[in-house]
Amino acid sequence: MRKPALSPARETHQIENQPPPLVDYNLFCSDAALREALRREGAAWAEPRVEEFGRLVGTREAIEWGFQANEHPPVLHTHDRFGNRRDEVEYHPAWHQLMRLSVAHRLHNLPWAEPVEGAHVARAAMALLAAQNEAGHFCPISMTYAVAPVLRLQPNLAGEWEQGLLSGEYDPRFRPASEKSGILFGMALTEKQGGSDVRANTTRAEQAGEGEYWITGHKWFCSAPMCDAFLVLAQAPRGLSCFLLPRWTPDRKLNHFHLQRLKRKLGNRSNASSEVEFDGAWARLVGEEGRGVATIIEMVHHTRLDCAIGSAALMRQALAQALHHCRHRCAFGRRLVEQPLMRNVLADLSIESEAATVLTMRLARAFDARPADRREHAFARLATAVAKYWIGKRAAWQVVEALECHGGNGYVEESILPRLYRESPLNSIWEGSGNVICLDMLRAMRKEPASLESVREEIRAAAGADRRLDAYAASLDRDLAEWERLAHGPESDVLNSEAEARRLAERMCLALEGSLLVRHSSPPVADAFCASRLAGHWGHAFGTLPRGVDLAAILERAMK
Ligand SMILES: Cc1cc2nc3c(=O)[nH]c(=O)nc-3n(C[C@H](O)[C@H](O)[C@H](O)COP(=O)(O)OP(=O)(O)OC[C@H]3O[C@@H](n4cnc5c(N)ncnc54)[C@H](O)[C@@H]3O)c2cc1C
Repeated sequence: MRKPALSPARETHQIENQPPPLVDYNLFCSDAALREALRREGAAWAEPRVEEFGRLVGTREAIEWGFQANEHPPVLHTHDRFGNRRDEVEYHPAWHQLMRLSVAHRLHNLPWAEPVEGAHVARAAMALLAAQNEAGHFCPISMTYAVAPVLRLQPNLAGEWEQGLLSGEYDPRFRPASEKSGILFGMALTEKQGGSDVRANTTRAEQAGEGEYWITGHKWFCSAPMCDAFLVLAQAPRGLSCFLLPRWTPDRKLNHFHLQRLKRKLGNRSNASSEVEFDGAWARLVGEEGRGVATIIEMVHHTRLDCAIGSAALMRQALAQALHHCRHRCAFGRRLVEQPLMRNVLADLSIESEAATVLTMRLARAFDARPADRREHAFARLATAVAKYWIGKRAAWQVVEALECHGGNGYVEESILPRLYRESPLNSIWEGSGNVICLDMLRAMRKEPASLESVREEIRAAAGADRRLDAYAASLDRDLAEWERLAHGPESDVLNSEAEARRLAERMCLALEGSLLVRHSSPPVADAFCASRLAGHWGHAFGTLPRGVDLAAILERAMK
């Protein structure tokens, strides 16, 4: 029997109504709130540099690196074929490209390598762009940025490590740091039995010589294990202490830093997060024995700033994708961005993103100013916890809603949305999960009352400009007064006051964001923020801005 002839190949349909890919755009130039914040917070000088970085991370090529680095996660090699320990992680070339780009722009060291006014702000702006493209590689970048203030507590260590730390070269070769042109740092605190409560650490440190120790134990999460050295907490004879533990010993041998396995994670997949055992690993004491938490806290403080920046970045990228999609996609005879209900959703997301951006950039200015300004020092102490908590929480909600703006396409892996979605809860867990951060906020308020006063002052800076903000600030003041009464009362009251911590953190953050937007943003954005977030004319989901807010003006600003 003759086979039936196939019909000649022809197109079954025209592909229409699909947006073009969002590539080859400048992430900085398209973000009015970030551009304004960079200038306002003291880093106008860095604009050409940040603009160039915004262009580079928005190229099709750099965006592709982000996808590749996550689709080809790192691979662990514990041993070589002869049975010798190797303890090495192999990354896809795209990971190295991302690292090279961020290191070349000094996201890992700008304020220490170029200590000029606004350096933290300039770096924060570039970090906000880098983490939009790919968040995983930002982990070792952030830890390296955060380590310098701790090393500087001990001049001999700083002398040994700073040259590599201040380099602008990315050198991924696995060899002793002294033979490399640039180095990176990590941190290993968390153990199986406790991450938040590091006092429960069981890893031991035995003295091996003057300032030298052998470290024995394990760490349950140790990200970016190919970093050249780590700050590690371990129990020394005088209590929990901080150590600098390099991957190689001074006599050029692999340190006893044994990688057990890499975590299989929800998100952040490009970044290797390992379980590691220290089997008498060689390390140097940093700071005083028994003062480990006090020593490492400066590093934690800086990485917490980066958690807020990282969350603001995810929020902005999710918004940028949603705006792009809705400008190109039509339904029911109109572009989505013209549909009244979608306009409300997009405007609501825009406000949330801008609030996160202005607060993180203001916070970065406090990091610039705090060495010489006690008020800014106090502000950074409390506002870092408040911002990390609330922006960290908002990121996941924002990403989910932005994903839905894409309809089914947002659920598809070739779009960046699933990656943003998986990434979005992480900054809230890292470096102190939500509750722990809120308890830290209470600690700051109790032990350093100046920190609370500085946040109040920042809120009051907008006094009289918007009656809804004034009313919100007054009611927050009443709540804070009640908390102060409990916090300075009997032990049982102090404990009970902990239950209020999330509510206070959220309210303080909203008041801070409101104050910044009222002073610095466009009146329609500030008005919508105050009406919804402060005066309560708002629902429980995005897209519930009240009647009367200027959706057109908010969207125009977000799409500039
Ligand atoms: C992808 C990834 C990478 C990581 N990389 C690193 C790394 O490089 N180095 C490192 O040291 N760690 C790393 N971590 C670990 C991370 O910092 C910890 O997971 C985090 O600090 C929480 O610790 P835990 O997991 O032990 O949770 P737990 O401490 O058990 O906390 C569980 C929950 O209880 C809450 N909680 C704790 N105490 C209280 C309290 N007193 N009151 C109310 N609630 C409380 C916490 O907020 C949290 O929600 C990483 C984690 C992830 C997910």
